[in-house]
Amino acid sequence: MSQASNGARIVRCPGCGGPSVYALENVHRPFCSARCKNNDFGAWASEGYSVPVDADLPPPDIDLDTDRGDTQPH
Ligand SMILES: [Zn+2]
Repeated sequence: MSQASNGARIVRCPGCGGPSVYALENVHRPFCSARCKNNDFGAWASEGYSVPVDADLPPPDIDLDTDRGDTQPH
């Protein structure tokens, strides 16, 4: 009785930690519901967009002299 009749698996919902039906009929899988899915995504988005960007890094030291060897038009 631990397995659904359609072969669906019960997984742990990443949102609430509760049981979630991992099947095609569960469009929110692996989440148990849209609420958990939205909550998890909201938390991820709010944290993901706060990643600091190293804008102070100097540009890579590109050797431009390699392009100066052939400046004549064809
Ligand atoms: Zn849940």
